[in-house]
Amino acid sequence: MTDNRETRESSLELARASFRNVGIYDPNMPPCRVDLSDNTNLWGAPPSARLAVEDTDASSLTRYPAPYTRQLNTVLAGYLGVEPGMIVAGCGSDDILDSAIRAFADPGDTLAQLDPTFGMIRVFATVNGLTLAPIPLTTARTAEAVLETGARVIYLCSPNNPTGDVLDPATIESIVAGAAGIVIIDEAYAEFSGVTSVGLLSKYDNLLITRTLSKAFGLAGLRIGYAAGSPEIVREVEKSRGPYKVSSIAERAAVAAVSNDRAWMREKADAVLVNREKFATRLKELGLDPKDSRANFILLPVADANAVGGRMAGQGIAVRALTDLAGIGDALRISIGPWPMMEECLAALQSALS
Ligand code: PMP
Repeated sequence: MTDNRETRESSLELARASFRNVGIYDPNMPPCRVDLSDNTNLWGAPPSARLAVEDTDASSLTRYPAPYTRQLNTVLAGYLGVEPGMIVAGCGSDDILDSAIRAFADPGDTLAQLDPTFGMIRVFATVNGLTLAPIPLTTARTAEAVLETGARVIYLCSPNNPTGDVLDPATIESIVAGAAGIVIIDEAYAEFSGVTSVGLLSKYDNLLITRTLSKAFGLAGLRIGYAAGSPEIVREVEKSRGPYKVSSIAERAAVAAVSNDRAWMREKADAVLVNREKFATRLKELGLDPKDSRANFILLPVADANAVGGRMAGQGIAVRALTDLAGIGDALRISIGPWPMMEECLAALQSALS
């Protein structure tokens, strides 16, 4: 056999052209003593989920999990107050978002999003061959600007990562009512804002609301995300997602947590709200200008975020440095956790800024 490698300059030529400029996800985070970079639950994992993992009979691991998570869907439906047939779960809400974009748009279609927003949407749009239409978050008459794109998929995030603000419910409803295609509302941080668009599901069928167990529920390592929509819509997302995407251990632990640990989750989420306001006050006392947040993180505009974040990492504190955000510039996104962590963060921030 002749070696056929010489016919190509690089094996990259084998990849889809639109893939070549997509980078591998790299949050560029060295291990740190205090990690305030990913908006997870910094109090730990919920007790029933821990027990469910510890009690798993390892001999069951030889079998496949349920192809679609019917048991978990029933529990999540109870949590959101919708019918079980209106839920789809997957490997993190990343999986649901990617699958939904693929299910509802053909390559070449447009995806509209506000800017800045959750960075993975740009990646999912690109890998699925879509054209991104970013609308600056500061645009007046947001609903009209979004609808004018005629996008097949409109992505809204409320509370928005990384700014932390919630979208006005009237704006959301105008967008859903006027959209030419599907509207995805990402509510990954809804447990912190107490604001949800789930009520719109009884009125509109072009709507998919995504949620996750990675944030308030403290289960990012299990990789469980889910969405609610009309039964027809969630079925299309399930088809796109494919079978067996949630492991049996993850489903068991998630069922346990959502059934039994809601009070635990609420207590931790309430502690976030208290510490977030205390932290914002301290930042303002330092002469800084944090953005108001309804999520479990705060966006703090700073000059040269990479340098400031790097100096904080040097002191063992990880925060997310974001650069050139539309209408904001550079900023640090800082997760809110137990107060001793926030004290350490304040000390590192002060020294990094001086
Ligand atoms: N949506 C938003 C707005 C997020 O911030 C994140 C996590 N950073 C996700 C979705 C994805 O979370 P997961 O895949 O862990 O559910």
